[in-house]
Amino acid sequence: MPASSSSLEAPSLVFALCIARHSLFTAKGDPWLACGAGCWLWAVSRRKLPGSCGIRSFQIKRFLEDTDDAELNKFVKDFPGSESCHQPEAKTRVSRSHLESRPQTPDLCQDDLEFRPPSWPQSCDSQQFFTAPAPLSPSARPRSPWGKLDPYDSSEDDKEYVGFATLPNQVHRKSVKKGFDFTLMVAGESGLGKSTLVNSLFLTDLYRDRKLLSAEERIMQTVEITKHAVDIEEKGVRLRLTIVDTPGFGDAVNNTECWKPVAEYIDQQFEQYFRDESGLNRKNIQDNRVHCCLYFISPFGHGLRPLDVEFMKALHHRVNIVPILAKADTLTPPEVERKKCKIREEIEHFGIKVYQFPDCDSDEDEDFKLQDQALKESIPFAVIGSNTVVEARGRRVRGRLYPWGIVEVENPGHCDFVKLRTMLVRTHMQDLKDVTRETHYENYRAQCIQSMTRLVVKERNRNCGGCRRCCTKSKDR
Ligand code: GDP
Repeated sequence: MPASSSSLEAPSLVFALCIARHSLFTAKGDPWLACGAGCWLWAVSRRKLPGSCGIRSFQIKRFLEDTDDAELNKFVKDFPGSESCHQPEAKTRVSRSHLESRPQTPDLCQDDLEFRPPSWPQSCDSQQFFTAPAPLSPSARPRSPWGKLDPYDSSEDDKEYVGFATLPNQVHRKSVKKGFDFTLMVAGESGLGKSTLVNSLFLTDLYRDRKLLSAEERIMQTVEITKHAVDIEEKGVRLRLTIVDTPGFGDAVNNTECWKPVAEYIDQQFEQYFRDESGLNRKNIQDNRVHCCLYFISPFGHGLRPLDVEFMKALHHRVNIVPILAKADTLTPPEVERKKCKIREEIEHFGIKVYQFPDCDSDEDEDFKLQDQALKESIPFAVIGSNTVVEARGRRVRGRLYPWGIVEVENPGHCDFVKLRTMLVRTHMQDLKDVTRETHYENYRAQCIQSMTRLVVKERNRNCGGCRRCCTKSKDR
């Protein structure tokens, strides 16, 4: 390995200084004696003065053995390449061309150019002595715990790339550590199977503490908003799920404007988020914005009822609405198809903007495209809910047992439950959150800022009494 003598000077000097320091102690505070000893040793190490041959390996070792200066002892022991001190004959030729390419020290003599003092490590450049040890070779390195996802997990890749293709893994790791949250609202009249479906979707009992009302109580009840939160974990991924229910919705005799409390609740969550976001401490903002609303449509009507139209029209700019055809097992398959068609037509007719599935990228594989197409065509999802496990053809499944047979919740031939769950959890949960943030919340925020600005302008105009200077300016603007 080529090395210039200038690069060798630094370690020699440090070494000599240590010896001098040591000598200062052993020479009982006589600085001249200490200095002399240090200089002699340095000169010996650099110039091969008489007695230098093998001095480092033999004499320094003896010198250290004689004393109990642990610090110095440690320095020499820990000094990289100190093992090579034991090879007195090792002379390494230093390439002249290499030396010439570097700035040379003025006192460089022939010896310096041709020989490297044998006591210094031979195998590596002396500049490395004071830096961190060389990294382990890729094969010797402990494998990353994200090995399966690591695009560089081969030693060849390590040499050729900078490494930023691991950024998705870093994001993945952080997200998993933080956990996920999702807020789902269920709306629709009582008895359409909302709570049963939610429990079937997430395999939990979210409505343990629910109090069922009698028919009279239900008529008197106004729309309430209730929240149920649960932490669920699957394969190390934590999801904080919040279900917002709307008991009393559509139960009264007069249901006009019964969508209002729901709309207010959604706006309140936006407002709270807007306040938190504009506040001083933005670090641990709790996001309670509603990401999706499953709107349950009765299977017993003919398409949409006025209440359904009113609700969806009032809320489609605030939340992602996913229409659900409830209790699909009460309908025959042709009836399900007919009702779905009618509902789709009416949604179009009334200009209701239900959640739009994003278009597939052209480079997606065919299976994914087909799955996506099937999802889009299933709207409104015709679902069946059940929290009981029944035995069907020797298998235990979630389903509903009838005198004529069993309807299976998770059988795609019986209903769209699996499609709904796939969409909600596996494929579109993040998109639902993104649309909430980027579209619905942005709309709310823009409106808020606009009305705040209008208020400020109005207030200023009122205070200045409609003067010419600022009022005309604001008008111009
Ligand atoms: P919610 O008031 O909308 O929450 O409705 P529930 O989940 O409490 O369900 C009301 C009743 O409907 C219960 O007796 C359920 O067993 C039943 N139910 C729920 N889902 C279905 C379904 O898909 N089909 C049928 N036939 N009944 C259902």
